[in-house]
Amino acid sequence: MYDYDLLVIGAGPGGQTAALRAAKLGKKVAVVEAREPGGTCVNRGCVSTKTLLHSSSLYRAAAEGAAVGVHCDALRVDLGEIFQNKRRIAQTLSQGVESMFKSARIALLRGRATVLAPHRVRISGAEGESEVSAEAVLLAAGAAPIRLPLPGMDLPGVLTSEELLEGPEALYRSLVVIGGGVIGIEFACFFSDLGCEVTVLEGLDRLLPMLDRELGQNLALLLKKKGVRVCTGALVERVERTEDGLRVAYSVKGKPDFAEGEAVLCAVGRRAAWEGLFAPGLEPELDGRVLKVNERYETSIPSVYAIGDLASQNQLAHVAAAQGQAFAELLCGKEIHVDMRIVPSCVYCRPEIAVVGLTDAEAKAQGIPVKTGKCVLGGNARTLIEDPGRSFMKILAHSETGEILGAQLMCLGAPDMISQISEAIANHLTPLQLLLAMRPHPTFEEALTEALEDLANKLEK
Ligand code: NAD
Repeated sequence: MYDYDLLVIGAGPGGQTAALRAAKLGKKVAVVEAREPGGTCVNRGCVSTKTLLHSSSLYRAAAEGAAVGVHCDALRVDLGEIFQNKRRIAQTLSQGVESMFKSARIALLRGRATVLAPHRVRISGAEGESEVSAEAVLLAAGAAPIRLPLPGMDLPGVLTSEELLEGPEALYRSLVVIGGGVIGIEFACFFSDLGCEVTVLEGLDRLLPMLDRELGQNLALLLKKKGVRVCTGALVERVERTEDGLRVAYSVKGKPDFAEGEAVLCAVGRRAAWEGLFAPGLEPELDGRVLKVNERYETSIPSVYAIGDLASQNQLAHVAAAQGQAFAELLCGKEIHVDMRIVPSCVYCRPEIAVVGLTDAEAKAQGIPVKTGKCVLGGNARTLIEDPGRSFMKILAHSETGEILGAQLMCLGAPDMISQISEAIANHLTPLQLLLAMRPHPTFEEALTEALEDLANKLEK
């Protein structure tokens, strides 16, 4: 007999979803967590950055209010209060996770877990060490920021996103962001909206290089307009201390240059956090940098499973949560009921970005014939009123079947609209079927109607 049917390691979006679903389906469940319940998402990631961006967007709106008749003459930022608010929201959500565990009779075990052998886990906490056994062990320990192995990256003031989220004492006058991916861009927006001079150094040829080209190019133009210095194709070489702060030396096509800042943010990706999770001698198979799992989330160690950032190339909270749900359902002999191949992804810059499915370039590379419908939101009333800068929507469909295959939205409200396209992809819908629904006026999603009409016309030709 085991102590638990399921022992989950990590109380982030993946672990908590798996634990709650398995408990609901009748399993005896415990979760081990070394830090605050809620994981990276609530405490050091998605929710924290969105809370900060809410503050900075209010500030920017007030600063720009004079253009629409709202004058805020004594505008002032208190960075301490902004970060205190971020901690308050994180605490509320973290306590919410604890309460959900309590209601579902899930034991929350505090400490750091190490898998000793199949079914056996050691927990080292403030009260010493203990050992527990479980029929299944689910690893959902997430990922941690990567620090570039370059000279000067260990200097004080060179920070990862998790360190920066602890909160500086005062607003930096200037910040250099290494990495123009999602984390780099969201921090660049937060600091530049508050008036900090920001430089973004991206190694590849455009911002957000993992997304459709037009998104990164449009974003670079909008950021430059706000005063952010954007440098792409930048090969970072080292960081040095200067009299006033830090200097990042880099080169573009062999030409040396530098960027200076009071602080440097290193946002070049996150690494699966599996080191230390296994006792010496217990070596799981890897798939590149992540744990190798099969379609049932089984690792190479019997009875040990893995989900989320530990086992997936898609480091997204909603992917981890969907995998947690799917894992628990499979464990309890149920059918999975989310299409795990359709993964939306969002960036909370202004205007926001949301994408799902294929891009034009990906379809071409895979030999899939597609047509693209587009709408530029220059004439969309809500966009005109809120004036976020150039906004557009692109929707792709298979040229022959008309099935919708993907979309790239860069406009206000994009993250709240993208699921219309995800549902269309999941249900093999065509633009004409999506056009059956009337969209209210005035809304951002009226532009979806326009992009779908453009797509339907192109498919007819
Ligand atoms: P990322 O992979 O999204 O971006 C890292 C960027 O750094 C890339 O553009 C890469 O080309 C660049 N880079 C790498 N090495 C470099 C170097 N030496 N010099 C200059 N540039 C370099 O990683 P991230 O932004 O750190 O985010 C980590 C993960 O977290 C991602 O999977 C991301 O999707 C996820 N995340 C998602 C959200 C969201 O959904 N809103 C928010 C934050 C993070």
